[in-house]
Amino acid sequence: MAYKTLTTSSNDCWQQQMSDAVKSVAALCNYLELDSTQIFSNNAQLNFPLRVPKSFVDRMEKGNINDPLLKQVLPVSEEIQTIADFSLDPVGDLTAMATAGVIHKYHGRALLINTGSCAIHCRYCFRRNFPYTEFQLNIQKQQQAIAYLNEHHEINEVILSGGDPLLLSDAKLGELIKQMKDIEHLKRIRIHSRLPIVLPARINDSLLKVLTETNKQLIMVVHCNHVNELSAEVGVASEKMRHANIILLNQSVLLKNINDDALQLGLLSEKLFSFGIIPYYLHLLDKALGTAHFEVSKATAILLMQQLQAELSGYLIPRLVEEEAGMKAKTIIF
Ligand SMILES: *Cc1c(COP(=O)(O)O)cnc(C)c1O
Ligand code: SF4
Repeated sequence: MAYKTLTTSSNDCWQQQMSDAVKSVAALCNYLELDSTQIFSNNAQLNFPLRVPKSFVDRMEKGNINDPLLKQVLPVSEEIQTIADFSLDPVGDLTAMATAGVIHKYHGRALLINTGSCAIHCRYCFRRNFPYTEFQLNIQKQQQAIAYLNEHHEINEVILSGGDPLLLSDAKLGELIKQMKDIEHLKRIRIHSRLPIVLPARINDSLLKVLTETNKQLIMVVHCNHVNELSAEVGVASEKMRHANIILLNQSVLLKNINDDALQLGLLSEKLFSFGIIPYYLHLLDKALGTAHFEVSKATAILLMQQLQAELSGYLIPRLVEEEAGMKAKTIIF
């Protein structure tokens, strides 16, 4: 068998890498030298198809069906079981939508949904069932969103979320950031994105230029669940962002048989920190339909946190949180 490599040249632009993403179980299995006939996933893909950038596939171990990165993206038949307590909108985002694309649930912070697309489809995602297309920001809705921010003086931080906000073009992001410049009560712009991890080529000079043309403080909250996701390329992207004075934080989701292990979580924190990224949140799974097989119980999660606390410097310990519909903040469990 010919040796296959997926390694993407760092010269490939991120848009090219987006369109080259792996989109079928057969192709993914082929790259990873796995037997696709053993994977029963077709029905699981109906509403949420497989999607994973090749640079992320490159970080998976060939021949390992239990690879912790593979398990985050491979559709499996467990997803189509209906389980009590797992619903379409577990965190109540739809009911909290204040105006087109703005979710204003927490005091002082408003979340802006700019795009429904993601570079990677994480099977455990609570947004997997979210009717994004209805909330994408076109020009008119964007104006409404900016007007909302202008009127609400209690909002001092905007969170660009999604989907993945860094899938917007530099021009669109630049426009958004420009429109926020004159909102005086706004102090910080926070970006929640998985792209610095899964598609680090997105963090290029032109992006950093549009992001930093602002008078607000910038925070990038990346999303990484396992130390194997932190490739050298992610390290380079992180360093670029730090040079641009962007504060880097990470959030993870606690996932069964992926990172529900104190040793692994410790390694993750250490490596994140070596990249200048501070562990921020470790989320208990949101109970979205199709994700029950990823659930780690609260009791187990607390035990893991106690182990972390016994071994790590305080700043390497993320806060264990849970999101409950209707609450005014995330619930801190540990
Ligand atoms: C998580 C979240 C935030 C941010 O909360 P922090 O605790 O400040 O990180 C804001 N709005 C919504 C709707 C959220 O889900
Ligand atoms: S919103 Fe985040 S967790 Fe959900 S699919 Fe997109 S990148 Fe993955």
